[in-house]
Amino acid sequence: MAPLSKLATNRIDDLSRRWTAFPNLETVGYYEYFSQSIHTPSIEQKHVDQSKTLQDFTLKRRTLGVFTHELTHWLDHTSTLWGHGNLIRLYEAIDARKHGREVDLWRIPLALADNKRTHFNEYYTEYGPAADSGRPWVATYTCGREYGLDGRIRNDRPVMFVRFSTPSNRLIVRAPLSVAALLETRAVYAELRADLHFISNLSEDDRIITTKLWQTEFMDRLYMARYAAYTVAAHFVANKAKMTNALEAFRYSSLLAGLALNLPPTLFTALRQPDGLEPWQELIPYLIASQNRGYAFLVLASSLPQEELPVEERIGLMLENAGLPTAPEIYTQTLTEMQALGGGVHLRNTGREQRLNGLLSVGFAYQKSFGPASAPYLANDAVLKADMRAVLPPVILGDGQLLQYGTPLPKQCEITEDWVTQSWDEEKQLQEFFGACLP
Ligand SMILES: [Zn+2]
Repeated sequence: MAPLSKLATNRIDDLSRRWTAFPNLETVGYYEYFSQSIHTPSIEQKHVDQSKTLQDFTLKRRTLGVFTHELTHWLDHTSTLWGHGNLIRLYEAIDARKHGREVDLWRIPLALADNKRTHFNEYYTEYGPAADSGRPWVATYTCGREYGLDGRIRNDRPVMFVRFSTPSNRLIVRAPLSVAALLETRAVYAELRADLHFISNLSEDDRIITTKLWQTEFMDRLYMARYAAYTVAAHFVANKAKMTNALEAFRYSSLLAGLALNLPPTLFTALRQPDGLEPWQELIPYLIASQNRGYAFLVLASSLPQEELPVEERIGLMLENAGLPTAPEIYTQTLTEMQALGGGVHLRNTGREQRLNGLLSVGFAYQKSFGPASAPYLANDAVLKADMRAVLPPVILGDGQLLQYGTPLPKQCEITEDWVTQSWDEEKQLQEFFGACLP
């Protein structure tokens, strides 16, 4: 694979700043949703080479750990029902701008809104007076509403929030339970598993010291309000199911997020309303109608039994409590829905259509073989155990080199200099049109 030029890697950074409006706390690497590519600006080939030979925990985390995080994002974008809908709306918007008629241009604001709604910008996160008060955090939820382009509150677009406070009820942070929060809980779980893998390979003395340092850092980060987007889902599960083990909370929140991201549209009506939502009763039909995946996650987490049962039994009971069918029944419906979505795609640009169909079919095959829980595990296995089961994009390193884990993407989905240039250009064209739209 040909390395990318400095101009191309700068363009991915640029795209990421413009498109993925999300607090990018770790600038080590990111997944860029518009071009579906992974870039790690500060990691170069020499760091990757060193990470293979040196027993350097910090270096391994900053290279291999970051790769597992970003590859999990790519897997979730290309293989969940949410991701398929998002990709299709995005590709249709670009097609409308480049090849469509004037009457098709409405797809552009739709795709842009879809992206904003995935991440919800910082305005939706509220930091309270007790933001730095440390642990414990008590979680409750509230329901808010989006602002429309005209600045007015939208009743038809509710947002689920988790409100964390001190035991004396002083606000720490109120964070949206967004799709991005569900995606982050899975990517962070993959990273945590990678950390434990690196620790297990250290010499005994190093292992004892590193484990202690790691635990302290992990717990500190868990209770930092500014990291809430990364931890809100796991905190909520831990609070609801009374879990004291943080890693266990991430394991379950990652699993529940996988289910919420793949929940078929028809099953949103079946979700059993959890206690405490009474004050927002009139918003519930809109949560269902807009297939709010944060709401689905909230219902699942609130339905998780508190007693420590074997995972499958616990999930089975949770689905029953949530008013949903069994896991295999949901799974069958998810796959049927995915096929229907993919079958309805018709773009005027054949190259674009082939790329989209390529991504959707790779994602569908992945979902069919491994199910909704497995993205973090497969990303881990690909990076840490040279597992070839997952088809994955290359990681674009800071020096433009492409690093491949797992099996490479089919030709029509390759990440090349041309693809990056094209994406950068097309995103500008979408924004240009949107700038002409008035509230
Ligand atoms: Zn992330």
